[in-house]
Amino acid sequence: MKLQFLGAARTVTGSRHLVEANGCRILLDCGLLQGKRKEAFEENRRPLPGGPPDVVVLSHAHIDHSGNLPSLVRRGYSGPIWATPATRDLCSLMLQDSAQIQVHDVNFVNKLRKRQGRAPFEPLYRPEDALNALELFQGLAYGRWREIGPGVKLRFTDAGHMLGSAHVWLEITEPGREPRRLLFSGDIGRKGIPILRDPELPLEGTDILLMESTYAGRSHPPYAESEAELSRIVQEAHAAHRVVLIPAFAVGRTQQLVVALHRLHDQGRIPGMPVFVDSPLATDVTSVFRLHPETYDAETLESLHQPGNPFSFRALRYTRSVEDSQRLNDLRGPAIIIASSGMIEHGRILHHLRNRIMKDDTLLLITGWQAPHTLGRLLSEGATQVFIHGESFPVNCEVRELTGFSGHADQAELDEWVGSMRRKPSHTFIVHGEEEGALGLAQHLGERFQLPDVRVPRQGESFEL
Ligand SMILES: [Zn+2]
Repeated sequence: MKLQFLGAARTVTGSRHLVEANGCRILLDCGLLQGKRKEAFEENRRPLPGGPPDVVVLSHAHIDHSGNLPSLVRRGYSGPIWATPATRDLCSLMLQDSAQIQVHDVNFVNKLRKRQGRAPFEPLYRPEDALNALELFQGLAYGRWREIGPGVKLRFTDAGHMLGSAHVWLEITEPGREPRRLLFSGDIGRKGIPILRDPELPLEGTDILLMESTYAGRSHPPYAESEAELSRIVQEAHAAHRVVLIPAFAVGRTQQLVVALHRLHDQGRIPGMPVFVDSPLATDVTSVFRLHPETYDAETLESLHQPGNPFSFRALRYTRSVEDSQRLNDLRGPAIIIASSGMIEHGRILHHLRNRIMKDDTLLLITGWQAPHTLGRLLSEGATQVFIHGESFPVNCEVRELTGFSGHADQAELDEWVGSMRRKPSHTFIVHGEEEGALGLAQHLGERFQLPDVRVPRQGESFEL
């Protein structure tokens, strides 16, 4: 079998790994690279070496794992895309949303190019490519083995990271060899956070492991502490009549924040103040959450049987139209606005920030991991002057970070996950992490669990196993 790492190698976004066995090319994830614009522009357009794969398996719907599927289809891929049913439903919204962003962004660049007398760029893909990709999805529920190629079986288990997220298990039988297991962790979720079930531990173990390392070497405060911190922040903002701007992925983080604010509100731990979820995608995605109670933890399931529902409360408004969104420009505090994108790269959060970044009655509250070179990362690192839509702005608003809402396992949780394996992997590849964290995790796992062969592959590197 051959393994090749084509993305999320010594970086976090652009997840793409190719497995070749018995003449069958299996692509694990097909994500968008985010961050440095020029590099992302070129890398996302680069075709897969050796032509399209035979099969695609998707770990979850986040754009850095799924967002380049439409390009693959645009270049002629017509095989199956295996995913859990909830991932498929989320992708039906997210890939079309992503296509619209691609078209919008390229139109913006092309206006500049036209003025410079240069030829326009094509968008990476268009909404019709996203639709064509959706036709290829094949749903596979958690826990079932399914043959997806000659001598290759697939199973998903619950990764507890977002709705529908999965650990990907392959069982590969090559001629003259015992069957071998390959486990791709996808993104590993956290225990004890609301809505989703905890990640399923990989108790039986595996021969080959591909493992994420986003929060390697770091630890999250317990969830209850983060909720208490959120309550303090909101109370202070209320007292000071501030507007709290929260950038959040439309999928996952937004629903998690809504459920947390709902709970704090019901418990009287935050004062009554308007909360706006300003994202048509988040509004639609919330409906997808309602459609998949099979993925909920016991507490959320229980609350669905109570009057009202966990995704709405009296002070909360979902805004869909552009006009309603623009009306928020004149909104005075105290109020909370949750909008995407989560790393402040595009979308309505950029418009709100542009409108409020120079005002000291605004608090920008960052609740998720920010990729290097994104506006979210620059602001969380204390930038005092930033560019938004090509224009420079001084940062007068306050910027705070709340890490406990992360959807990724921290070091202790990664240890528990690996430690649970009865059969420890003979080959381990650390992916989906910044270089320093990934290298640290590789060394740590080798020492703590005596794993014999732990590597941090580079982009494009391949291994014969
Ligand atoms: Zn993810």
